[in-house]
Amino acid sequence: MFTKNHYLLTQEVCRRALAVFNMPQLHFLPMRKQADQINTKRGYVIGRTNLKTGLITIDIFTPKFRKPKAIASILRTLAHEVAHHQKPPYRSRFRGHLINRCHYPVFYRQVTRNINKFKKDKIMNYPTASGWGFRLSYYVRKP
Ligand SMILES: [Zn+2]
Repeated sequence: MFTKNHYLLTQEVCRRALAVFNMPQLHFLPMRKQADQINTKRGYVIGRTNLKTGLITIDIFTPKFRKPKAIASILRTLAHEVAHHQKPPYRSRFRGHLINRCHYPVFYRQVTRNINKFKKDKIMNYPTASGWGFRLSYYVRKP
């Protein structure tokens, strides 16, 4: 798939995906262009979210070869980032230090719930080779 199409497709799919949450402050942008190849040994960011502005950015290319990432994989990341708004981080004590707890059991349950929400959505839920996905024809108009 062409890179330009991949940008447009992911923006359309994520716009639709965010609509199922009824949280108008949330908006999606593809992550700004990163270096052609990312050093995957040191870990890398696949998505981030701003809890104040509601902006969610996701890397829409694979880390190593910078190929368009599968939509199902982008949606899984989106479900994770949206969960940060639904189950916000909280401060807790750990060995005498105050730490921010971001990824806790209730948070992960919310991620699963979000993915199930996509599966129940009439437009988002369209069987694909990877198990679940989206109705491609809805987003890409035939010439
Ligand atoms: Zn996270």
